[in-house]
Amino acid sequence: MFTRRQILTTAAATPLVGAPAIAKAQSWFAGYPFALGVTSGDPAPDGFVIWTKLAPKPFEPHGGMPMVPLPVKWEVAGDDRFKIIVASGEATARPELGHSVHVEVAGLQPDRPYWYRFSLGSDQSARGRARTLPLASASPAALKFGVAGCQNYEDGLFTAFRHLAREEDIAFVYHYGDFIYEYKQRGPDYDKDSLPVDQVRHHIGQDCFDVGDYRLRYAQYLSDYDLQAARAQHTWFPTFDDHEVENNWVGDFDWKDVPAEVFRLRRQAGLQVWYEYMPVRAAMLPRNGIITNAYREARFGDLLSIDFLDTRSFRSDQPCDDGFKPYCPGIGDSKAQVISAEEESWLLRNLARKQTSWNCIAQQVMMMSLDRRRYDDEKEKIYNLDSWAGYDVPRDRLLARMRGLTNVVVLTGDEHQNFAGLLESQGKPVAVEFVSTSISSGGDGSDLRKGSDVMLKNNPELKFVNDQRGYLVCEITPDAWTTHFRVVDQVSVAGGSISTRASMTVARGEPSLQIA
Ligand code: FE
Ligand code: CA
Repeated sequence: MFTRRQILTTAAATPLVGAPAIAKAQSWFAGYPFALGVTSGDPAPDGFVIWTKLAPKPFEPHGGMPMVPLPVKWEVAGDDRFKIIVASGEATARPELGHSVHVEVAGLQPDRPYWYRFSLGSDQSARGRARTLPLASASPAALKFGVAGCQNYEDGLFTAFRHLAREEDIAFVYHYGDFIYEYKQRGPDYDKDSLPVDQVRHHIGQDCFDVGDYRLRYAQYLSDYDLQAARAQHTWFPTFDDHEVENNWVGDFDWKDVPAEVFRLRRQAGLQVWYEYMPVRAAMLPRNGIITNAYREARFGDLLSIDFLDTRSFRSDQPCDDGFKPYCPGIGDSKAQVISAEEESWLLRNLARKQTSWNCIAQQVMMMSLDRRRYDDEKEKIYNLDSWAGYDVPRDRLLARMRGLTNVVVLTGDEHQNFAGLLESQGKPVAVEFVSTSISSGGDGSDLRKGSDVMLKNNPELKFVNDQRGYLVCEITPDAWTTHFRVVDQVSVAGGSISTRASMTVARGEPSLQIA
């Protein structure tokens, strides 16, 4: 977290990534306006979005900004010393959007790194690195990318983000959401002797409800330099899950039965601030309180198509009041939906195109319908009703369309555990699902959570479980998809070390998993 002294001295400090700052006489502000860092996202073959947000005093109202629009200069270079400037311009940071800056840079070369930075008056931002995608007509021999999300600030340090920042040759990172958690500061946890134990860090403020609350929460998360490092070093495909608004919200429904028209106001605030802080295109600006274009696609030549889903905004309410519960008739509701009808037709169209070696569905909640019992004395099967397991009809409909494709890989978050397993339609495997753990949510964890052996025994399609923090690195060639489960040994204290807990390979043409 920033101290006042850090904020005052950041302006003169070496940038987070790259070349030393050019010494300038005077700042416009009492504090450094680029204290929340920079990032890039939603890459295309000819460009990407570059992002920053002016906040000289990140924890003060409006980040300490005057409520006027301000011009921010930006530069994109072909080299990390900014000798070859390939694009530059000026963007307006508006008070309506919390003085965030989203520049959609175009006209660049495919499949190569670029560097970017911003300036305002005499202040210059840290340097970020971004990468374009290859042309859709290209035939890349290989691709490596990251998968991360679920970063509860109170549960642990963001050490995994620093390790992710250092991963080499990462083309992009998919973020499956829970970028923030909306809760107020939690009380203590209790150890095995029922003694109180403090959280690793504390949220500032109460539960988030309005734009100011969410802005402060993102500012607090971005005061973490491990997160800033990963944001500056990589190019992201951000998506949101529940905690960007409220635990387990779907559609117009909030779990506390707040009237839909009232909940929509909170959802609008959460989604506006998510947009403000994410390196996404203007098409994803919330309109009438909802982001209609959060689901979207990307191509990595003829190697990979990715469809990023929005499994929250258009979902029907969780059956049986949500939770981990035995089967109830609502699970079989024939009108239930996880994604909208438009999103589903778009997804099915994309899956059927067969233009790439691999089809990836990058989404939020687990698609495997696992029996979640963890104790032998539990009589009835238990389902996670906030996942696809609570929505049998749309789930079966989607899996049926994967029959015969033999190249579908589903990437998921939300669970705060690593899982790998097979997705089945009518008893036959049709795809592989990798569920990525969390950056910090859930705390240190251990190799196996109590009862994981029962889960593995009860679910033959489930091949791997692990309860440590970390992220995924996926390495793809036309013939094989390998997922590395990267885990940190601890997040409760600084300096946690990274290792690969498991590497699992899928051969194209055969939805099965080999443990390397
Ligand atoms: Fe989470
Ligand atoms: Ca979640």
